[in-house]
Amino acid sequence: MKYRHRNEPGLLPLLAEVLEGTADLSGAACAGRPELFDEAGPDEDVDNVRFRHRAAVRICSTCPALDRCRAWAETQKDLGGMVVAGRAPRLRGRQPYSERTQKG
Ligand code: SF4
Repeated sequence: MKYRHRNEPGLLPLLAEVLEGTADLSGAACAGRPELFDEAGPDEDVDNVRFRHRAAVRICSTCPALDRCRAWAETQKDLGGMVVAGRAPRLRGRQPYSERTQKG
């Protein structure tokens, strides 16, 4: 079998292209913990999602990259249903956690 030669620049230039314009989140406390920050699974119990996201928000509050992450997040149109920069998404039919806790 013959393979055609591909004129791609290589892995490092490709990675640089992909990462261009992304925030420098070095030191991010969420690294390696996506299971807490991810959006709700299709059949995931809402209480489980809330529990995970609260834990994620607490991690964000101690993150050394919080200011950079928040600045980046404010430039995004849609962050989906993930916890980003200490902000949890509004769960369908529920108030955001911060509003719920403020009302006591
Ligand atoms: S603020 Fe939260 S979401 Fe942003 S980098 Fe830190 S831990 Fe991750």
